Amino acid sequence: MVAVLEQKKDKKAADLSSTGKGGQQGRALSMVRNIGIIAHIDAGKTTVTERMLFYAGRIHKMGEVHDGTTVMDWMIQEKERGITITSAATTCAWRNYQVNIIDTPGHVDFTAEVERSLGVLDGAIGVFCAVGGVQPQSETVWHQASRYHVPRIAFVNKMDRLGANFQGVVAEIKSRLGSNAVPVQLPIGQEESFRGVIDLLRMKAMCYDEANLGLTVVESEIPSEHAAAAEEARACLVEQVAEKDEAVLEAYLESPDVPSEKLREGIRRLTLTNRITPVLCGAALRNKGVQQILDAVVDYLPSPTDVPAISGVNPKSGETVSRKADDKETLSALVFKLVNDPYVGRLHFVRIYSGVLKKGQNVFNPRTKKREKISRLLRIHADSRTDVETLSTGEIGCVTGLKDSTTGDTLCAEHAPIQFSSMKFPDPVMSMAVEAKTRGAREKLENALNMLAAEDPTCIIRKDEETGQTIISGMGELHLEILKDRMFREFHVEANTGRPMVVYYETVMNTGRGEHKFDRELGGRRHIGHVVVEVSPAERSTGNTIEFNVSTNHVPAEFREHIEKGLIDGAMTGVLGRCPVTDVKITVVDGSYDQEYSTDVAFRTAAVMAFRDAVMAADPNFLEPVMALEIVTPGDYTGDVLGDLNSRRGKVKDVFARGEMQVVRAAVPLAEL
Ligand code: GDP
Ligand code: MG
Repeated sequence: MVAVLEQKKDKKAADLSSTGKGGQQGRALSMVRNIGIIAHIDAGKTTVTERMLFYAGRIHKMGEVHDGTTVMDWMIQEKERGITITSAATTCAWRNYQVNIIDTPGHVDFTAEVERSLGVLDGAIGVFCAVGGVQPQSETVWHQASRYHVPRIAFVNKMDRLGANFQGVVAEIKSRLGSNAVPVQLPIGQEESFRGVIDLLRMKAMCYDEANLGLTVVESEIPSEHAAAAEEARACLVEQVAEKDEAVLEAYLESPDVPSEKLREGIRRLTLTNRITPVLCGAALRNKGVQQILDAVVDYLPSPTDVPAISGVNPKSGETVSRKADDKETLSALVFKLVNDPYVGRLHFVRIYSGVLKKGQNVFNPRTKKREKISRLLRIHADSRTDVETLSTGEIGCVTGLKDSTTGDTLCAEHAPIQFSSMKFPDPVMSMAVEAKTRGAREKLENALNMLAAEDPTCIIRKDEETGQTIISGMGELHLEILKDRMFREFHVEANTGRPMVVYYETVMNTGRGEHKFDRELGGRRHIGHVVVEVSPAERSTGNTIEFNVSTNHVPAEFREHIEKGLIDGAMTGVLGRCPVTDVKITVVDGSYDQEYSTDVAFRTAAVMAFRDAVMAADPNFLEPVMALEIVTPGDYTGDVLGDLNSRRGKVKDVFARGEMQVVRAAVPLAEL
């Protein structure tokens, strides 16, 4: 089995050494960029990534999304549907910098993938369509990136398309995303006359040689008809940067014609601190403007050392501790993704925050309190991998050999433990029943479902106690369809599935209290546990939190883990319609125990009962998933669209013009779509 992998590895290894752009060995951390590309579906992420790899010499033939030959969209399902589902990671070299790219998916059904990758990125490129502008999905991802303080540059793609409007998109990035978007380029021409870009720092025009797929960038003076606009845009850029950056201000006061190097450094400082978003433009499909994105990644986006030291908690002492991005620090790494590989088994994707991870090393997982051994280390490039001896600070790679570690876990040195805060995932919104086609396939199905759920924190498997059916839930119909498809293709299990249905949730509208004393004879012994629980509403989409606000004299530490399990059990089925309970702050406020008769089971059961009573007392209510929609329509039909939205219980948020078209933004319950 492993031989297949080795074979692939050798082929790629040869490729790596021939270009001399292999690893990070010997490359300073300041020369590394970990970046992601985030955007609305169809904005051109995959095309942009593919072109970047091509110009960086990482791949020698350009793939196209529409014929299913791109390197990044490697899962069969992605190739068939022409979309990107699983974030694939890859590495290329540009100007002697190592650029690690994570290709995040744009489809709303796969937000967990985006969330996971944002947690490990140092910087990102937002790709926008020059016609579509800022669409709802890019908005969501952009705000997620803001939450993780990820510095960003923006690329306005598809400048060649009819209706392309560079300044329009810049204005939307400002108004809709609240980012201080500042063009560092201007397009030369647009729609079918789009030829290249003007670099506002050096004040040069750049056009691309059609004959060799844009590999040759032809630099020239700015065409006279664009000179005035370029002068004006540069002055605006200088002013914007000088306003916020001391050094550039000083240079500006000496002479308004700030040297391009000074200006570049100023833009870098402001981008790193999220005070501006430099905006570039081009047409990836037409091979225009992509090399300048790579330049901007190197010039403006952070290296792992530019990012503040990462902090976490020492699980032993509870103290906050931090780690600098430095190979000499003790090891800290985050598992951000799990993949089941048919040849090597379970692969864990890790980002190294400090220290060096070595092949064969023992690492400590503070969540499980277990030591685990790393058997292999791999650097990844879409679906191919290269074995390496070490992964250093700032690197992203795969490890094998971990048995009990999962997404969101920290790996560290046992003598210097640290635990990072774990990632938050949205609650699933669609579910369907699955059933093995034959009796014999039952176990296989269960196995497959467990593997899929382990990989994907937004895929939840549960058994409906009333019907005995297995229910699989996920982020949307497409997500469920892909899961079903993977069950068949990867695990060879044929299953019947029910109709996908919207998942409803329950929550509380008020504060409530519940108390339960469990005292029963079971299996020939007495079990006593007593818990008092308070619940109150938490902010929407924050999930449930559990806190203990009770002295250990009343509830000893040894039972808390079991109370927590009971509370989690309780939250799985609500009190109104057996829907999962979410967005509730749960506090254990009191309780008692018996020296002789208290048991784990008693506390777990008491917690379930107390929780249910507390929810009953706290004005429980249903929640339903609501989707953000953007509908683009010719003006004549706006009335019909509004009427239709109304009949679907939709709430219209905004109506505005984009070029000739009207754009309607609305929130509509998923059940009505
Ligand atoms: P993703 O969904 O964001 O990964 O977008 P893709 O890279 O799959 O691109 C979506 C579609 O837009 C594909 O059909 C591409 O060929 C097309 N596309 C990408 N870049 C450009 C561009 O610069 N100009 C034009 N006209 N089409 C483009
Ligand atoms: Mg794609």
